[in-house]
Amino acid sequence: MNAPGDAARYHRLRLILALVDFAVGLAWLGLLLVTGLSRGLADLAASWAAAWWAQVAIVAAAIGLGHALLTAPLAWLGGWRLPRRFGLLHQPLRGWLADRAKAALLGGALGLAAVEVVYGLLRVTPLWWLAAAAVFFVFSVLLAALFPVMVVPLFYRLKPLADPELEARLLTLARRAGVPAVGVWVADQSRKSRTANAAVVGLGRTRRIILFDTLTAEFGPAEIESVLAHELGHHVHGDMRRGLVVQGALSLATFALARVLLDLGVEWWGLAGPADPAGLPWLALVVTLVAALGVPLGNAFSRALERRADDYALALTRDPSAFIAAMERLAGLNLAERRPHRLKEVLFHSHPALDRRIARARGEAA
Ligand SMILES: [Zn+2]
Repeated sequence: MNAPGDAARYHRLRLILALVDFAVGLAWLGLLLVTGLSRGLADLAASWAAAWWAQVAIVAAAIGLGHALLTAPLAWLGGWRLPRRFGLLHQPLRGWLADRAKAALLGGALGLAAVEVVYGLLRVTPLWWLAAAAVFFVFSVLLAALFPVMVVPLFYRLKPLADPELEARLLTLARRAGVPAVGVWVADQSRKSRTANAAVVGLGRTRRIILFDTLTAEFGPAEIESVLAHELGHHVHGDMRRGLVVQGALSLATFALARVLLDLGVEWWGLAGPADPAGLPWLALVVTLVAALGVPLGNAFSRALERRADDYALALTRDPSAFIAAMERLAGLNLAERRPHRLKEVLFHSHPALDRRIARARGEAA
């Protein structure tokens, strides 16, 4: 499939592209501020529309569109060209563009709604940062609940698993874990890519198991059970809930810092006040930088949860060799970096390095 060294090359290129993308985003926001472009943009918006929310929408849309255009080549390289070259993706450009357009519309609409909420609050209360963090928290809970029913079907066709024997095995495993599911569904990932995964999504009566068809095609039943047992571990531990709380705490800290820096920015950038739409690039710059500082914290937390889910899977299936075989297969299909540099793992990885997961399953110190 892949030559040795491919995984390292692929991940090195991915990291470079992601860092360039991040830097281009910051540079664009900085450019808007120091050249006075954002002031001009806000004045233009004010001459077109009287309502504050319309002015905010015009400025936000211009900034977002500019960013999308500037980073479009990077998105194409990192999201299509590169994974195609390494055999991970075989989705035609047209289908990939359609998926990206859907994601951009969804992300753009949510992003715009977020900006409007923040500016609406900025106008009415000095405690806007606290209120915004609360609104974002409630919204992230809603999104997590609705994601499997509203977002996943936008990108995948789901069909019930056509293998009754495997279905019975997986549902039994879920019952043993105390996470009863109503059914097993297969998502048509192979249409796009060779990467494999499984998920347990939904709550209560909508809880279902979703397997990528790449998983059902390539993995033996015991290996699929191991992958599923890991996902069940997340449910048993309430990791979704924990993740939302940690994310909420990080966003509260981000907004608290943003409040201080936005007040300073009023003076630095000659804004009419904190709610002046001309300050939007500054607010975006501050939030982006502070949120980036929180990424390693979030990842450290996530790696701890992943380790625990692995331990749970091994205790539930008592089949370390199937677990290790599944990890090896996933590594091959997903072109995983088996042993990234420790610093890279600490900063950027939400999962423990693959070699560490395998060593732990063998009962070795990892
Ligand atoms: Zn996991």
